[in-house]
Amino acid sequence: MKADIIKKLKSENKALNDEKLSEDLGIFDTTIQQHIRELQDLGYHISETDKGYHLTNEPDVLFPWEFEKRESHIHYFSEVNSTMDVARNMAKDDCPHFTVIIAESQTKGRGRLKRKWISEEGGLYFTIVLRPDMPITLVHMVNFCASLSLAKILQNHFSLNAKVKWPNDVLVDDKKISGLLSEMEADDNGIYFVNIGIGINVNNDPALEEPNATSLKKLLGKDVLRKTILSLFLDEFENSLNLSNVNKIMIQWKKYTMTLGKEVRIVTSRETTEGTAIDVDESGALILKLEDGSLKKIIYGDCFVR
Ligand code: ATP
Repeated sequence: MKADIIKKLKSENKALNDEKLSEDLGIFDTTIQQHIRELQDLGYHISETDKGYHLTNEPDVLFPWEFEKRESHIHYFSEVNSTMDVARNMAKDDCPHFTVIIAESQTKGRGRLKRKWISEEGGLYFTIVLRPDMPITLVHMVNFCASLSLAKILQNHFSLNAKVKWPNDVLVDDKKISGLLSEMEADDNGIYFVNIGIGINVNNDPALEEPNATSLKKLLGKDVLRKTILSLFLDEFENSLNLSNVNKIMIQWKKYTMTLGKEVRIVTSRETTEGTAIDVDESGALILKLEDGSLKKIIYGDCFVR
């Protein structure tokens, strides 16, 4: 019902009294007053005048009803261990394709290899459950598509110098603004789910703990609505996944990357390799040109630009 009241106040864009709300939404006046108080507690500035209730702000909230056409697929939590854990359980319970799990903060946010992802309030933390209809050999494209989509919206809507770093971080002016992580379950019948987890530094600033991090607020000098970023991202990502074929994603990713052409060091648990990053092949592997001129294919690893 709160969602209906907010939608009504937004769509009418004028003061609405108890009577009008009660009639339009089919509930008692007293219930409306109770819901209005609760909405005010959630951050909505709702002024009360002789003419009725008027919504006077656009709070930075991520409740499902803020994403109108996606409302039924969005699940919001104020705090979780990790959106990846919640998503895994939901995926196993057969939640639909493109279910999105959002958390205001995570107590155990994680990156690749169980590294910690700082998840303080003000950032944007979400996981998307996907059930892509593609061969398992192409599933890495989903990761490339996600980091590409984020870099695109940061460039196109916020004029930021956003670039993707192999395999899938997003950096602005060489500082990390976002990390992406994926988990998958598949068998002989194909992919059961691929979960893409994304942390974006929006109105938070993790730089004290993580000096190589940046945030939208820091870069733009003002707060940014997280729901705007999330809406833009989900639209861009969904369109790219639907419309693009694999080649298109890779061609575009190469235009948005800061890794190719750079001298890099790749560190894995087994070895360290140095060379020039010259390409990414169709499997997502990085192709390095080594000092002796030979080529080496790197499937995974930590990439440091020298
Ligand atoms: P790299 O940054 O070298 O590519 P990675 O790919 O393993 O490492 P992720 O898995 O995306 O990185 O994220 C984990 C790492 O990101 C942590 O080890 C830490 O260095 C860094 N980090 C953690 N929290 C944040 C944050 N909020 N913003 C930016 N960087 C962070």
